[in-house]
Amino acid sequence: MLDKASIKNLYESPQNLKGVGPKTTKLFEKICGKRLIDLILTIPKKYKKKKYIEEISESHIKKEIVIKAFVIKHLPQFNTKMPYRILCKCNNQEIELVFFRGYKKYLNQILPIGQTRIISGKLEKFSNKYQIVHPESISFIEDLPYVHGLVAVYSLTRGLNITFYRKTIKQVLQNIPKIPEWIENEILENHKWKAWKDSILAIHRPKNINKNEIVKLRERLAFDEALAHQIRLLVLKEKIKEKESNKIKINHIGKQRIVEKLRFSLTDSQKKVLSEIEKDLEKKHPMQRLLQGDVGSGKTIVALISIISVAKKNYQTALMAPTEILALQHFNYFKNLIDDKNIKIVLLTSKIKEKEKILNQIENGKAHIIIGTHAIFQSKIKYKNLAYVIIDEQHRFGVNQKFELVSKGKNPHILTMTATPIPRTLALTMYGNMSISKITESPKNRKKIETISVSKKEIPKIISRLKDIVENNYNAFWICPLIEESEKLNLIAAEKRFNLLKKIFGDKIGLIHGKMDIEKKKVIIEDFKKKKIQILVSTTIIEVGIDVPSAKLIIIEESDRFGLSQLHQLRGRVGRSNVQSMCILLYNDNLTDIGKERIKVIKKHNDGFYIAEEDLKIRGFGEILGTRQTGYQLFKILDPFYDSKIFELASKEAEKIIKKRNKFSKEKKNIINNYLKIYNNHSSLKYISIT
Ligand code: ADP
Ligand code: MG
Repeated sequence: MLDKASIKNLYESPQNLKGVGPKTTKLFEKICGKRLIDLILTIPKKYKKKKYIEEISESHIKKEIVIKAFVIKHLPQFNTKMPYRILCKCNNQEIELVFFRGYKKYLNQILPIGQTRIISGKLEKFSNKYQIVHPESISFIEDLPYVHGLVAVYSLTRGLNITFYRKTIKQVLQNIPKIPEWIENEILENHKWKAWKDSILAIHRPKNINKNEIVKLRERLAFDEALAHQIRLLVLKEKIKEKESNKIKINHIGKQRIVEKLRFSLTDSQKKVLSEIEKDLEKKHPMQRLLQGDVGSGKTIVALISIISVAKKNYQTALMAPTEILALQHFNYFKNLIDDKNIKIVLLTSKIKEKEKILNQIENGKAHIIIGTHAIFQSKIKYKNLAYVIIDEQHRFGVNQKFELVSKGKNPHILTMTATPIPRTLALTMYGNMSISKITESPKNRKKIETISVSKKEIPKIISRLKDIVENNYNAFWICPLIEESEKLNLIAAEKRFNLLKKIFGDKIGLIHGKMDIEKKKVIIEDFKKKKIQILVSTTIIEVGIDVPSAKLIIIEESDRFGLSQLHQLRGRVGRSNVQSMCILLYNDNLTDIGKERIKVIKKHNDGFYIAEEDLKIRGFGEILGTRQTGYQLFKILDPFYDSKIFELASKEAEKIIKKRNKFSKEKKNIINNYLKIYNNHSSLKYISIT
């Protein structure tokens, strides 16, 4: 039987744990999710062996060690180039802790004079003194057990410390129940997979680092995730299938009006996918179509043209985009091209002005085209007659989100668009049995983007290129380093770069980041398009979809920190017109092998499909454990590319389950629904279950 009491506890918020307040809860939410269970489903990115030593000696140099250190005095930096040092004693041996970016107040707080702390890090010797540069962790003596031995390392965010994190995980692990399996025994045995609970326990606290065993543990948990995803898809599909929706007759006059306004003619490929979409719209069953096309191939215009016929029949269309900026851009794009007074377009994001008015227009049917972020499917929003749902950058949304939106209408037609180049078979399993349309050619006028890599030391040379851009009335993007999982640090980096460039370019430079409210973003993007601002410093929020055809240069700082597909997406921000564009990849001199390899591939290739496959080859086992393919925030562990075999297997199993489910006992259904709930990545939403 299910141990209901305790599994239920795991659906609660971490806030109920010892030592976890609202602030920490928010941090957990950011990296793991809202529920306790999400904490333990977020697996380590690697493991380390840490040796606790009583006394430092020469033999420990260059090794990862853990020591007890008594803080003697702080030696603050004289100028910004000097490190902040803290002199300590370990037994009778002096050792310095060195911080290159020392925040005095913070360091005084965590390493107060006269106290002993447990320090972990790599031992170095510098001008005859022992030192640890940027200790990996600083903990209280009683936390020693969480610091030494074989320890798990997680991707954390600023404000969460690793020792505290491990302690929290341990608390949660102590309370996980044994739950009955939903995977067939045969499959478990064939793959040598462990039971769910054992897998979870072992992946957080393995007894030793045996690569094969860890691969197995991860595989099993990835399979769970895939299976849950597939079952949800099938349930959703059944709900949609065979249902009658509104037949949309194509309005050729309305279409013509748009096409005449364009300054270009559609490519043959665009025409082809458009006619595939139109054929679906005319049918009485709802369309379920995936529109694939590399960055810049012109998916938006295809969507827009297909909407016209729907709007002309007085039906509503909802277009969901993953970011506010992108929603705003679509809104402007549509407004520009649709001059029909009878078609009303509205923008709905969470922080928009005049929200009530817009909600009314959606409810009474005055608004025909509703564009927004996930705000457009919130429960209080009622649509009069939603007949068509379009989801841009599909991979950013989960099945549940899609489900919520679709359930706002009466079996609406669904078009999802993505630039993620995934193989057809994977697309089919990942997105359910959708029909696929593919834009295979980019607009004819495009020139290949020239891609070069430049050491960060040579930034001065780039400045002259930027001056050229400004003088010749073009635009440029400057993308700031991606600091893993921390929007706040990203922001600090972006502000710093912005201030430096401002000294040179004055008013011509702008800054945009995720924390800005939509009104402000709106102004900045407008100014950038109008060239009041010509250089836009940005965090990676502009990654998806942003379209400024006059941008002919993009500079990506610390480009080696990005995944290949992400670099490809970012580069796709330029080269969107007939001007020759350039992408400059900045790198630090301590480039890793993977970093080097990535830069090599991206310089040479332009085909998103090829690049995605290379990405997979470059990332070895070490990388796969902790990093997810960027863009698939859908899953915690599973990487549909890397785990394609597992994904296929899950797809088969899900079909079996759905087919046979009427014969299942109530208990068996409960077991399955239990897992569906565990692997529900969007816990704020209704979850899908089998009945
Ligand atoms: P994506 O497929 O990445 O979403 P967009 O739809 O944003 O690409 O289109 C990129 C740019 O190309 C836009 O400025 C769009 O107006 C333009 N565009 C679309 N189709 C064509 C075409 N057939 N010829 C020239 N430019 C086009
Ligand atoms: Mg797009």
